[in-house]
Amino acid sequence: MQVSGRNEQRFHPDEVSMPANIIADYEVIIAGAGPAGLATGLHLMRRAPGLAGRTLILEKARHPRPKLCAGGLLPDVFNALEVLDLDVNEVPHVRTNWANFVYQERGFRMHAIDRDFAFYVIRRNEFDAWLATKARERGLEIHEETAVTGMHVAADGVTVETARGVYRAKAVVGADGALSIVRRHVMPREPTRVARTLEVVVPPRTGEAPPHPADEATFEFCEIPGGIQGYVWDFPTQVNGEPMRCWGIYDSRIDTGASRGNLPEALARVMARHGYGPDDYTLESHPVRWFNPRAAFSAPRLLLVGDAAGVDVIFGEGLSPAFGYGALAAGALIDAFAAGDFTFADYGDRVRQSSLGRALQWRVDAARRIYTLRRPQLQRLLWRRMGFLMRPFVNTFLINWTKRFPWG
Ligand SMILES: Cc1cc2nc3c(=O)[nH]c(=O)nc-3n(C[C@H](O)[C@H](O)[C@H](O)COP(=O)(O)OP(=O)(O)OC[C@H]3O[C@@H](n4cnc5c(N)ncnc54)[C@H](O)[C@@H]3O)c2cc1C
Repeated sequence: MQVSGRNEQRFHPDEVSMPANIIADYEVIIAGAGPAGLATGLHLMRRAPGLAGRTLILEKARHPRPKLCAGGLLPDVFNALEVLDLDVNEVPHVRTNWANFVYQERGFRMHAIDRDFAFYVIRRNEFDAWLATKARERGLEIHEETAVTGMHVAADGVTVETARGVYRAKAVVGADGALSIVRRHVMPREPTRVARTLEVVVPPRTGEAPPHPADEATFEFCEIPGGIQGYVWDFPTQVNGEPMRCWGIYDSRIDTGASRGNLPEALARVMARHGYGPDDYTLESHPVRWFNPRAAFSAPRLLLVGDAAGVDVIFGEGLSPAFGYGALAAGALIDAFAAGDFTFADYGDRVRQSSLGRALQWRVDAARRIYTLRRPQLQRLLWRRMGFLMRPFVNTFLINWTKRFPWG
């Protein structure tokens, strides 16, 4: 079994020097053309096309680019895409009819309250490329293979350094993911609050235990007593039209003082029960930065969205938050340009007080309670006997936040 990491970056604020040659001037630069950056651009285009026309999205890769992610699209993503007049059925997907929440294979299942499925599963290379195409079709400018390597914030604007030259803008949106460079300018000395994940995509297989049904997803919490503050997932997916399974493990690490379980071993234990040996797959890892209500979400001329700002700690669900952050950032930018005030002083409150911020806070509270219960009897009780309480709790507090969201 091999473990490889992606997106490793090093950045030292002291190394940033003032630029000599500005190659282009924009009102807004968005660093990162993932869902959060593209959603910010699409909301700007919807609400302030003039400003969106003077906005540039810088992306270090080229779409379709790989992105480690299980690709589960919750109903909140569907609601968010409807606001943008986008239909995800245009993207290859697998419909997951039930989500099972289990402890040692027994528990309860649920699907969305107002839809006849639990969620869709997409491949991120396909979904993100589709979103980028839509953004371009609507007039947004994206420069690919242009990684942001440094920034300098001054009283009158921000200079953004890239491998291709230096850009200037009045405001910069950090949509550059969990290892955000922009975030390091907003909070240079922040303690790390990231979840760890491992993921593999494998062909369906029958093992000692019956395989999970082809159209169902499973969240297995049996590794919590062993020190994994999260779950092992098994989602149906597809690669180039072929049915596959996406397995992975999520460890929130919300209790920073607790002893830690071994991620590869924990995932291997659960996968072995389904017929997969460690030589059958190569693990990949990428962090998920989770929402911390006390963190900064902005600094003068800088805004954070998506993983750069912080997403769901309990499941690592970041795709619906990406769209909520995008709408909030677009609103903050429109107001800043109208007032000529780029302090973004109230952006953190806008995030925290929105239904997105409140749902993310509920998830922090829930994760603190659930993932610190390390006695097996308690975990068994929670997932096998408390489904009647967990279902309404999930539907009311953790998801469906998009229905109460001020899309603007
Ligand atoms: C293993 C795993 C499984 C997951 N499963 C799910 C799931 O099933 N459902 C769900 O909702 N969420 C899931 N997530 C979370 C989800 O993937 C993220 O929350 C989501 O990708 C956040 O979107 P984003 O646009 O903020 O960041 P990203 O998707 O990371 O996009 C950031 C973009 O910025 C670019 N970039 C990075 N640095 C620079 C730079 N210096 N200059 C320019 N561009 C840059 C990157 O190339 C990338 O295109 C998972 C995460 C992981 C790690």
